[in-house]
Amino acid sequence: MKTTSICSCQSCGKPFAAGDIVYFVPLDNNIVCHICAIEHDKVEPRVVEGAMELDTLFKVTTSSRPFVCDGCGTYVVPGEGRIISLLMVTVRLCPKCQREILQKLSKTD
Ligand SMILES: [Zn+2]
Ligand SMILES: [Zn+2]
Repeated sequence: MKTTSICSCQSCGKPFAAGDIVYFVPLDNNIVCHICAIEHDKVEPRVVEGAMELDTLFKVTTSSRPFVCDGCGTYVVPGEGRIISLLMVTVRLCPKCQREILQKLSKTD
């Protein structure tokens, strides 16, 4: 079976795990989950390749401007805070909240 490196449903955003069977929609070139695939007449199965590494799931950038932490409301000075983009969500966090969130997310289930 063909593989895909897409790590979430391009229709509803549901995250995929490595080895999941997902569906390619030739009509719009999207990879979707089985629930979203029901809406389409013509789909081709794909298997999700590789393990989802946190690095690929997240894009972490250092902020160059001061901001208020989305987690605890602390004022964060430039260079200390991190902006984390996870799938379609972007959060701005102080170093403490960032660590907590990364710990939570790295625990599967
Ligand atoms: Zn979906
Ligand atoms: Zn915080």
